[in-house]
Amino acid sequence: MRRRIGVVGAGWTGAVAARLLTDAGFAVEVLEKTSVVGGHSRAETMNGVVYEPNGAHIFHTDNEAVNEFVNSHGLTRPYDHKVLTEVFLSPDDDEGHLLSWPPQVEELKELPVWPTVERELDSLPTQPTGDNFEDFVVSMMGRTLYDLFIRDYTAKQWGRPATELSARFAPKRVELRRDGHRGLFRDRWQYFPPNGINEVIESVLSTVSVTLDSEITVDYADRLGQDYDAVIITAALDDFARCPGELEWRGIEMRSRFEPTDDPGGVLTPAYVTNRPSTRVPYTRTVETKHATGQQIGGTVVSEEMPGAPRRHYPVLTADGANERRNAELGKKIADHFDIPVYFAGRLATYRYINQDEAIADAMAVAHRVAAELGG
Ligand SMILES: Cc1cc2nc3c(=O)[nH]c(=O)nc-3n(C[C@H](O)[C@H](O)[C@H](O)COP(=O)(O)OP(=O)(O)OC[C@H]3O[C@@H](n4cnc5c(N)ncnc54)[C@H](O)[C@@H]3O)c2cc1C
Repeated sequence: MRRRIGVVGAGWTGAVAARLLTDAGFAVEVLEKTSVVGGHSRAETMNGVVYEPNGAHIFHTDNEAVNEFVNSHGLTRPYDHKVLTEVFLSPDDDEGHLLSWPPQVEELKELPVWPTVERELDSLPTQPTGDNFEDFVVSMMGRTLYDLFIRDYTAKQWGRPATELSARFAPKRVELRRDGHRGLFRDRWQYFPPNGINEVIESVLSTVSVTLDSEITVDYADRLGQDYDAVIITAALDDFARCPGELEWRGIEMRSRFEPTDDPGGVLTPAYVTNRPSTRVPYTRTVETKHATGQQIGGTVVSEEMPGAPRRHYPVLTADGANERRNAELGKKIADHFDIPVYFAGRLATYRYINQDEAIADAMAVAHRVAAELGG
């Protein structure tokens, strides 16, 4: 008899793990709590305009296996992602300056603060140092650039001082560019599908049995044990274990509005993603997905990304690693409720700050493990 696998969650991780195991001959069922697939990466439409209710999602990867996999599901339209940041050089600066993100030394040389910035850059250590986010980033770009680009953005985004945050995610997220490379990412492959990512994830799931509107928690452990030979969980573990508050999360709310445009290609903000670090506005960035889709339609959707919503978007990686430890403990507690093997994968269940390509790589790894441990 075919071995049966239950997969909790139909985001990238659940979808890819389910597809690979189906292809390998397992009888797989995906159980998804909402009425749609795609998880956080999902796009929606407003008056026909594609926008992203969970924030801007640009697919980029350097992983050949991941690239091949997404290509085979139709994700092939190239896109070179460039981000702008609006900075105010002083409190009485009326107009913000639109600069590249990450900051580019060549552009910074045009600013009146450059002599100070240059002095600070000249006295930096050869390698950035520091355990907390602020110390690390100041040692990477100096105090003036940190204050202009990072300090208030980070305080808004995380709702706590940057000194309490771990330096671990800084190298992945913050950079000072000296080589003139303008794209945000350096990965070999970057894509943006014309209608958002949904149809790619739907293609992945096209041969898989999916049950929507099915919220699964630890209370279903016995039932899952009867229905399946193993379970892969991609849900947040505090949610799955029904102990909200056990883990800290940071969420966003995209305040999205439709605006008509005279020109079908018309857009209203300077870039797909424009960072707004200033405390003059409560949001952290504006997102206008039409820049990336290139849709020809009489309108656009502009979203303001408001931090601090009670949703599970970002794990909070504090300098002391406490949340990651609690997540590992929750994983053990959950596994104890089951008589069948339980696997955890993806951004929520493993409490990691990972991108879509890393979620897919995670799914590939867990599918491989399940196949090796259970046989086809
Ligand atoms: C604001 C923001 C911006 C991002 N930008 C980018 C970007 O530009 N590029 C990039 O590559 N990545 C980006 N990411 C990361 C990307 O969203 C994730 O890496 C990816 O979506 C992870 O997929 P996943 O399947 O692990 O999790 P999710 O997409 O969160 O999927 C989990 C699924 O499980 C379901 N679920 C949860 N609990 C239960 C339950 N109890 N029972 C049943 N189902 C359940 C959920 O409804 C969801 O469908 C961003 C993330 C955020 C939050």
